[in-house]
Amino acid sequence: MRSATLTSKTWRHLKKQLTADCRCELCMGSLDEQHRVFLCSSCHRELPNPPPSCSQCSEPLLFIEQYGRNQRCKKCQLQPPDYDYSHYRFLFQPPIDLWIRAAKDKHQEHWLTRLSMLMLESPPPALSSVDGLVYVPSHWWTRLKRGYNPAAVLARRISQQTQTPIYHQALTKSWSRDQRHLGVRERRQNLSQTLRAGKAQFHGEHLLIIDDVMTTGSTAAAAARILKQRGAGIVGVWALARTPPRGFLRHNAR
Ligand SMILES: [Zn+2]
Ligand SMILES: [Zn+2]
Repeated sequence: MRSATLTSKTWRHLKKQLTADCRCELCMGSLDEQHRVFLCSSCHRELPNPPPSCSQCSEPLLFIEQYGRNQRCKKCQLQPPDYDYSHYRFLFQPPIDLWIRAAKDKHQEHWLTRLSMLMLESPPPALSSVDGLVYVPSHWWTRLKRGYNPAAVLARRISQQTQTPIYHQALTKSWSRDQRHLGVRERRQNLSQTLRAGKAQFHGEHLLIIDDVMTTGSTAAAAARILKQRGAGIVGVWALARTPPRGFLRHNAR
């Protein structure tokens, strides 16, 4: 009798799991053939896709007509960052921000697999000429607490799907404060003290830094500077999400 109860409980649980995998994560509607990425077509269309952005720092451009597509913002024209281009899949807005937080703060690593699938739907145009992927490592203590480095998980998934090698030894990191609560200047200072060159030596390669969230771009710039000092020829950035500047959200809310 007891085993019969357990069996029916297990069956109910299994059935729930199997059904959940065939349903849209947001509206619980059924998934169509084209959208096997955990979202139905209509929820997929509603995701915070990127607006026209600067081709180098990828900051959303408020007045695209001033710059034209694939143009650089004034900041990049006057003082370009150390990376040559950047590309991101989404704005860091709901529901993407909630899923990234679940992966980073709630040990829900499976979100990174799902989100890497969405990244691969829209890769950087230069992907075919990339020689290798790089990610900013996390300090061993952070990795121990979380169990994984989100950027490294994304890089591994992208590497598997695109057959692009990863340079695991390109960068190293010592202890740093959580970047999320720091201002631009503090971030730069914090990073210059913590990010270092790893063992890899480059000879003009085209490297692509994989990142989960690009905020000010200072992490990517510090990493690109180090990689170029170690011999990299071109360094690009491919982020899952980018934090939009405050002015951009106000402008778009009007
Ligand atoms: Zn849906
Ligand atoms: Zn720019």
